[in-house]
Amino acid sequence: MRMVDIIIKKRMGNKLTKEEIDFVINNYTNNLIPDYQMSSLAMAILFKGMDSEETANLTNAMMYSGDVVDLSSINGIKVDKHSTGGVGDKTSLVLGPLVASLGAKVAKMSGRGLGHTGGTLDKMESIPGLSIELSEEQFIKQVNEIGIAIMGQTSELVPADKKLYALRDVTGTVESIPLIASSIMSKKLATGSDSICLDVKYGSGAFCKTIEDAEVLAKAMVEIGKHLNRDTKAIISNMNQPLGLAIGNILEVKEAVNTLKGNGPKDLVDLCLNAGSIMLVQAKLFNNKEEAYNALLDVLNNGKAFDKLKEFISAQGGDVSYLDDLNKFDNAKYEHQIYASKDGYIEDIIALDLGVAAMKLGAGRAAKDDIIDYTAGLILNKKVGDKVNKGDLLITAYTNKENINDVLNDINNSFVISSNYIKPQNIIEKIIE
Ligand code: URA
Repeated sequence: MRMVDIIIKKRMGNKLTKEEIDFVINNYTNNLIPDYQMSSLAMAILFKGMDSEETANLTNAMMYSGDVVDLSSINGIKVDKHSTGGVGDKTSLVLGPLVASLGAKVAKMSGRGLGHTGGTLDKMESIPGLSIELSEEQFIKQVNEIGIAIMGQTSELVPADKKLYALRDVTGTVESIPLIASSIMSKKLATGSDSICLDVKYGSGAFCKTIEDAEVLAKAMVEIGKHLNRDTKAIISNMNQPLGLAIGNILEVKEAVNTLKGNGPKDLVDLCLNAGSIMLVQAKLFNNKEEAYNALLDVLNNGKAFDKLKEFISAQGGDVSYLDDLNKFDNAKYEHQIYASKDGYIEDIIALDLGVAAMKLGAGRAAKDDIIDYTAGLILNKKVGDKVNKGDLLITAYTNKENINDVLNDINNSFVISSNYIKPQNIIEKIIE
């Protein structure tokens, strides 16, 4: 087999075989195919596409390019969820304990935040004492005992994606559905869960800017799951405004705690109840989503979901007294309030700009090795569709930094106020099964 023939075959719009795809990924991972040929193939895929079988074969080849986590010693169906990333997305911290409190097995490997999106591991580490560094043995034991563990990746998962994603980034080949779908799904499948609930976000704070793009991507990923026999469902959710009210690590942990105690913001609660009911049906613990939804409402209101969070945090060394008394968490030195400049309705809260602003306040990383300030971030006081009067509080910024007038200006500009009535936004647009 020659790489040049495979490139020409795809350039002509023909379908690649499993053997050809395995050849490409194996040899590229082992540095036997040069970047210039791989970027040429990526460009041919971008223009000519791949059908669902080719995309599944590509995903499979990428998944087996490195280690694949073996969770077979965990009893029961392992459920996982994956979000394509957004601003204020603390869903994993809520959803994990929520479904685990009803018997689901959550063995999750998460990542850190970069740029305008936060990461679950950073949020967890803002709880004093908590460790995300578990051995594989500890990880499996914890899931068997209490139903949930979340850790960082230790083994080398999907090295093919690491190389290919970096190459796509500099060769104008990121925006290809088969390449994006296989990149996300290969990483998710390599972490070993039996079922996956995808939260594919669209909007200014998301990777997909429109509902249509998100739907095409979601369908491609659900198809990959079908081909590779992993139960995969997807929710298309709105990321035109931040999720919930809090952005920033400690602030989001507090919001997650309040949500698990039954006092969460509507959009976050809606998203978690819907994703949770999908996961509980995938785990075969409930026959249908309606029964699962009602059970989830019960555990939010009767304290069981919060108890599961405490069990989980405590098992990973976290000091749960902080969860019982949220006032124990450190606070940022400075608070800045931003007020409405006129009467009207909130038309837009540009999630991307607030994500970048939170990062500049100290809550996130501009580069991979930046140190995070867990206390920094933003608390929204209004959401899209809310009525405001001039002088009403829109948002509070928390930071330990001085001289942040430019950032405060950006935060102010991310709110668009209209004099016309604006409908509140739904968080869930569609479910793809
Ligand atoms: N996120 C990924 O992990 N891969 C892509 O290709 C795009 C977004």
